[in-house]
Amino acid sequence: MPMDDGPLTYAEFLARVPKVELHCHFPGTVFPATAIELAEKNGVELPSMDPDELYRYDSITDFLAVLQAVSKTLVEPDDFARVAYETLADGVHTGNLRYREMFFNPDYHYPQGLSYDEIVGGIGDGIRRAHGEFGVRCNLIAAISRFHGPEAGVALVETVLAHPHDLVVGIGMDDLTPEGKEAPEIFVDAYALANENGLNVTAHVGEIDGSTPRDVLIALDVLGCDRIDHGYRILGDPEVVRRARDERVHFTTCPHSSVWLYGFTFEEHPIRQMFLQGLRISLNTDDPPFFATDLGKEFVIGAAQMGFAPEHVAQLCLNAVDACWLPEPEKERLREDFCREIDALTARLT
Ligand SMILES: [Zn+2]
Repeated sequence: MPMDDGPLTYAEFLARVPKVELHCHFPGTVFPATAIELAEKNGVELPSMDPDELYRYDSITDFLAVLQAVSKTLVEPDDFARVAYETLADGVHTGNLRYREMFFNPDYHYPQGLSYDEIVGGIGDGIRRAHGEFGVRCNLIAAISRFHGPEAGVALVETVLAHPHDLVVGIGMDDLTPEGKEAPEIFVDAYALANENGLNVTAHVGEIDGSTPRDVLIALDVLGCDRIDHGYRILGDPEVVRRARDERVHFTTCPHSSVWLYGFTFEEHPIRQMFLQGLRISLNTDDPPFFATDLGKEFVIGAAQMGFAPEHVAQLCLNAVDACWLPEPEKERLREDFCREIDALTARLT
């Protein structure tokens, strides 16, 4: 490791620059060895009990099937605490993670007999342990699973409203419909309920092959989203890009998962194009061990290979601070800390 005031290579700079992460899924953070240990402890079947084989797939539907199988290995609140602690520790150690807003899908866990409060309580225990050891902070986004349909989406928002927790700061939406679509418009009732009650809202749109800039517009205009998760397909319509740029819409993008699932290359990645066209983006891990990545790699490999210079990386990190759902005074403090640390790290670049 370099001295704390010595010169830094660009890779060291990219790993050490302080980070806020806005797009990471709790069930997608389970390390394969942890999933196998939990499966053995809880008597749950997995597609493979070999940690080198478990996370192998070549389509989003296969990936989602393994993700849901792994989520079934979490049975006791302590299992949730372990996973939350391990992923936050990894974010700190690989990428200097300071604050994360992490999706969790209650609908994945109800079949294992857990209540919403037990799920949040378990994850919360892991968050508190990580905060105590590393100072890292984390809040949660309750995610609607498209697979479970619009009525389950409304039920999730009702549950979030009926069981307020300090940690749960908004509503998201991921997965695909049983037909393999994003179809954001069919979830309008869930989002209307969330908006009426003042919840922050975001949604995965414009991600998969076949989705369009119109899906991004629906998320903004019909669902009332504060920010967009992925959104790569926006590049198909310059007018929608212009609007998102003018309205300073934030896109939480994920370099490694999109390369893995959609065949993009880092050298010609839509994320790079989105940045060059003036959109406000951040870099995130999505489901880190499922795509053989971590927060450090998203920058050390992703940002570097996409051609981001130090001043661009500083902008990406500050974009994430600006788009997070912390109260304004806390965001302001975080921004000041980040600016000071980024300046000090930049001065040490060789
Ligand atoms: Zn995602």
